[in-house]
Amino acid sequence: MTVAEIFETRKRPVSFEIFPPKGDLSVDEARSVVSELAELTPDFISVTYSAGGGGNVGATTEVAHMISHEFEIPSVAHLTCQGLTRAGLAEKVEEFRAAGIENVLALRGDPRPDLPAGDFEHASDLIGPLVDAGFCVGAAAYPEGHIDCLDVDEDVRHLKEKQDAGASFLVTQLFFDDDCFYRFRERTIHAGITIPITCGIMPFLSKKQVSRMIFMCGASLPSPIIKLLARYEGDAEALREAGIEYASDQLVDLARHGVDGLHVYTMNHPDIARANVGAIRA
Ligand code: FAD
Repeated sequence: MTVAEIFETRKRPVSFEIFPPKGDLSVDEARSVVSELAELTPDFISVTYSAGGGGNVGATTEVAHMISHEFEIPSVAHLTCQGLTRAGLAEKVEEFRAAGIENVLALRGDPRPDLPAGDFEHASDLIGPLVDAGFCVGAAAYPEGHIDCLDVDEDVRHLKEKQDAGASFLVTQLFFDDDCFYRFRERTIHAGITIPITCGIMPFLSKKQVSRMIFMCGASLPSPIIKLLARYEGDAEALREAGIEYASDQLVDLARHGVDGLHVYTMNHPDIARANVGAIRA
């Protein structure tokens, strides 16, 4: 089933992101994560992609295949432009087809100077060829603007280009302040973006993780989170629980505000997904 069909036929789909095993780790590791996530009956699961170096390029396809064929849950394989040539894309298309993959999240990826230059600069350049090859294609959206783009309106214009290129759905970067998303949603409506936007939420688990994320993606850190980080500084377990609870509250608030979908960045921790989904369904 394609993600476009899921958004057309189901109310507010709930989905997860996982990452495939790296290096020599076996796909069985991902299988045990997916089997726990499957119990939560997500509408789809997306699988990240690392363009070389991480050792999991092929694993994205293998894990996405496993999700849809062994667990009968629609899957989305991520793909980035980094180092990708036209010939490389043709090979990927064949690999995806052979694995029965229907949905692809087209991304630029973060610049990789260690890789040879590819033929695709932006995600929007990758979307058309993937749509032409018969895939249902999604793309990334940034409620607070992409970190490279100082003008949020310009970023939204580039987002519209993804829809114009044929994207059928959008998945947002993480955000910790739902009001940022509601303002962004207004902007997308004014820009003529009509495809569904599912909200990506990542629970904070530690101060180190939060710092890395905010500097990597430019998400703002609301003061309630700063206070929780200060309060539980010496208690890792309590901080983790507070992070999961904060994310659950965010998801419930988003559902109440009628967002199109909810997407949990599980970081391969099924207990996070379980707590978040429990809160949404309750
Ligand atoms: P683009 O859409 O190309 O945008 C990048 C920047 O260029 C933005 O500032 C944008 O405003 C600007 N821009 C876009 N189009 C144009 C244009 N035509 N002219 C000029 N400027 C333009 N990374 C991975 O490596 N693997 C993953 O699996 C992965 N999964 C992700 C999943 C989600 C849901 C999200 C939100 C991000 C993910 N990322 C992943 C990270 C992503 O690759 C980075 O955020 C990357 O820096 C931007 O990717 P993009 O597809 O949004 O790029």
